Amino acid sequence: MQYDVLITGGATSGSFFARRMAEQGFSVAVLDASKEEKIGSKYDIFHMCARDFDTFGLPEASKDDGTWAFEFTEGLTASPYNNYPKTTYDKIVGMHMHEYVLKMNRWAKEKGAEYIYGASVISPVFENGRIAGVKYKKDGEEKEIRARVIVDCSGMGGAVRTSLPDGYGVENFTLGSNDMFYVILRYVSLKNSEDYLKGSCGWPFYKTWIAPQHDPCGAILGIGACNSFGYAEEIYKDFEKSISLPEHSIQYFEKGTTPYCRCPYSFVADNFIATGDAACLTKPLNGEGITSSMVHMEIAAKVLGKALKKGRTRKADLWEINFLYNKAQGADFCFLRAVLTKAVTAKKEEWEYFFENDIIFSEPLMNAVSTGEEIPLTPDVLGGMIKNIARGVKNKVISVSTLKAVGSGVLLGTALKNHYLSFPETPDGFEKWCKKADSLWLKVGKMQ
Ligand SMILES: Cc1cc2nc3c(=O)[nH]c(=O)nc-3n(C[C@H](O)[C@H](O)[C@H](O)COP(=O)(O)OP(=O)(O)OC[C@H]3O[C@@H](n4cnc5c(N)ncnc54)[C@H](O)[C@@H]3O)c2cc1C
Repeated sequence: MQYDVLITGGATSGSFFARRMAEQGFSVAVLDASKEEKIGSKYDIFHMCARDFDTFGLPEASKDDGTWAFEFTEGLTASPYNNYPKTTYDKIVGMHMHEYVLKMNRWAKEKGAEYIYGASVISPVFENGRIAGVKYKKDGEEKEIRARVIVDCSGMGGAVRTSLPDGYGVENFTLGSNDMFYVILRYVSLKNSEDYLKGSCGWPFYKTWIAPQHDPCGAILGIGACNSFGYAEEIYKDFEKSISLPEHSIQYFEKGTTPYCRCPYSFVADNFIATGDAACLTKPLNGEGITSSMVHMEIAAKVLGKALKKGRTRKADLWEINFLYNKAQGADFCFLRAVLTKAVTAKKEEWEYFFENDIIFSEPLMNAVSTGEEIPLTPDVLGGMIKNIARGVKNKVISVSTLKAVGSGVLLGTALKNHYLSFPETPDGFEKWCKKADSLWLKVGKMQ
């Protein structure tokens, strides 16, 4: 049988996309390498903003089915020496990943999506030079499945995207150690009841945070760092020395990786879409990717629905996904990624000054980022930041090299944002657009 849509990967992204396509009446198959009893168990607790259940029409978390773990509203972000906390208010729900992925699987199946578990993609299948399905292995047997369109939701390994031939239309790069965050979660018990958490706190200098977990007397102490888990542990040691954490004892560790790099310039090729972690759609501030991918998939599902109805699913027919996504979220993410990549080169004392003077880390900006509103970077706000930086340089609190780094981050971020906002409406002009994007990203470099 040939399906309308074949989705590789059936965790949060795959299930969301499967539901969106199946509810439009298309036949949808979802392949996942994991067995049903293991799917979504790469780690336990994840967070989502409560309003995102409504925004994306997602099934609610519930205590009855084991998906809900805890909730909180207040989030603090503090300087390297724990000063000048910025408060953001957004109701956050903590959930158990495996249970919630199973719930999303059922939610997609309700509309007719068919899941094949324990089915590991081996390679794409081509017909007349265009992708037409995939080969996969299940129970030791090699099989083939075909569809009009293949959607890669297989996570950061991008099982299909990275196997596409050069020049097919979507970049086939794999992620190196500087393109991802190595995340280590310490699940801890807090010794003293007065330390039990009512909200979370993050220290972006170390890329560390403390947040509640399902045990109300416990917490998660997390860190994300590029390079390696070993490097993350080195930074964690400095964090422990610099910040007085509540007394605690370790319950257990969880480790994982999440993309921290630019997305492929095009998400679409003939009969193909990449999304979710497979398309590196994570948030620049924290590497979270579940709902930022849904922003992309809402657009992709509408465009693909129209294309399937017309019977035309070539690159040009799916191109609107690129164009609309960049306007909706992509351009803003590029701005943030460029600024943060440059700002992290600053020293601890310089970060203190940033926090003290609302440079980058200001409550209005952080609340806008956390609630997904437009980032309030008006000329007035930018001018105020530049003035404060100049004062810091004059008083020798900020070095000239940091000034240059942050300044170039803001300039490059603005240039990237404008470039992504002027993404070509059709594949014409894309090559020229890529050349300029390449030169801007080269100047941004990789997160340290
Ligand atoms: C420790 C940690 C904590 C995080 N916390 C949060 C958080 O709180 N909130 C948040 O939004 N984000 C968080 N993230 C990021 C988030 O986990 C990812 O962005 C998100 O899970 C991506 O979803 P996905 O469906 O695109 O990919 P995945 O969840 O990786 O799912 C991919 C699916 O594809 C399947 N697959 C892989 N290869 C193949 C293959 N060859 N054949 C068939 N199937 C295959 C896998 O079995 C899997 O089920 C965290 C990341 C880490 C590492």
